[in-house]
Amino acid sequence: KDNAEKRQIVELLHKLPRLDEIFEVHRKIGEGTFSSVYLGSLRQHAELPSSEKRWFAIKHLVPTVHPARIEHELRCLQDMGGKDHVIGVELCLRHLDTIVFVMPYIPHRKFSEYVGDMDANELRRYMRALMIALRRVHSFGVIHRDVKPGNFLYDRENQRYLLVDFGLAQRLCPLPIETRQEPASLLVPPPAHTNSNGKRNRSESDSPPGAKRVALDLTVAAKPKVTTAAAPAPASAAEIQSPRATPRNVSAYACACAGAGGVCAACEARPPPRAARAGTQGFRPPEVLLKYPHQTTAVDMWASGVVLVSVLSARYPFFRASDDVSALAELADLLGTQALQRTAAALGRRLVTSSGRRGLCLRKLCAWLRGAPPPPCTHSRLPRAPCLCLDGNFKPQEVRAGSVAGFPDAAFALAARLLEPDPRARLSAAEALRHPFLATGGE
Ligand code: ADP
Ligand code: MG
Repeated sequence: KDNAEKRQIVELLHKLPRLDEIFEVHRKIGEGTFSSVYLGSLRQHAELPSSEKRWFAIKHLVPTVHPARIEHELRCLQDMGGKDHVIGVELCLRHLDTIVFVMPYIPHRKFSEYVGDMDANELRRYMRALMIALRRVHSFGVIHRDVKPGNFLYDRENQRYLLVDFGLAQRLCPLPIETRQEPASLLVPPPAHTNSNGKRNRSESDSPPGAKRVALDLTVAAKPKVTTAAAPAPASAAEIQSPRATPRNVSAYACACAGAGGVCAACEARPPPRAARAGTQGFRPPEVLLKYPHQTTAVDMWASGVVLVSVLSARYPFFRASDDVSALAELADLLGTQALQRTAAALGRRLVTSSGRRGLCLRKLCAWLRGAPPPPCTHSRLPRAPCLCLDGNFKPQEVRAGSVAGFPDAAFALAARLLEPDPRARLSAAEALRHPFLATGGE
């Protein structure tokens, strides 16, 4: 492996001699779908002891990335970076199709190494930093689209944070006046990308393997007939999550064949809906999974909710579904089928499931996953009522329940407001910073 890495570095320096002139490239420090990232230091400082050297992260983009994409990533770094925990760029070098971004380096560990031992104060600082970074990005009308621990680097020793990787970022642009509606924004579609591994997708039409049937089943309903939906036959969650069973059991279209055990010829013939789905499996919000085209910065807020709940539950990855329909089934388990169906209807989609789920109490779930004693939760005794922990109107002072593993109720309340299925009701980064968990208490 070391030899292969050294060969890659030699090859890169050969293709980009300017890089070799300015920097000493030491080793590979990261690899994503679209880049390799190396640790570098300035050559003129070569004699300095390593503690005094200036270190840089040198991101080499794979040559198949669309030039418009690269330009957009660079613009994001230039326009927004260098402040509020958002990565900046020091230098960009190019020769033919070899392009590198030179950025400040931040030492960091894998999220999985510390996800289980962050306490409430550390989590508060971490989430504050993430919200401050997102508030900045969103104030530029940009959706990051790939918020996840691998792109929010955390130097635990020095309490430094950096939001990196604008490779999937998208700019919001206003809808034309005559079609303007809530929310008043539309995505600029990203240029198509030739490199897709099914986990992280760039192009709006990229789909993970086996997603063809999903696209058919998620046919757009021009006028959703939610109220006339026939109650589908019940099925277990396991059945919903089975890839073979999913196309039958979860669908989002308004045809009479919905939930009837197959897709009719008319639906087969309909073009699949197109909406941006760039992002990473397990971090996609309902509006992306439901192929809603008018996505907003709320996409990033959902992903930050997934990061938060990962820490609260000490589980990473938190969601494990490998395709969009299974992911919807996972969300139905957590949020409740009705809440997800209401959101689908509000977004012009019809979600049909073969079994109803009431939704889970986040605090109880996290306690269970951590093996901690379950917190008292009066609301779960109410038949078919959504748990308070997932209620948007949750007020921390209303519940004097004990904390879970030292995390206060307010932390769970924030998670519930970030994992709000309806993107229009989800908290913004600025609002999250005013939330009791982040605005008050602790350091
Ligand atoms: P990709 O688009 O390929 O995912 P990223 O920009 O996310 O590329 O970088 C991939 C990995 O490289 C990151 O997850 C991180 O581990 C490492 N990395 C990126 N930027 C930096 C940086 N400024 N400092 C330290 N490590 C970095
Ligand atoms: Mg990345």
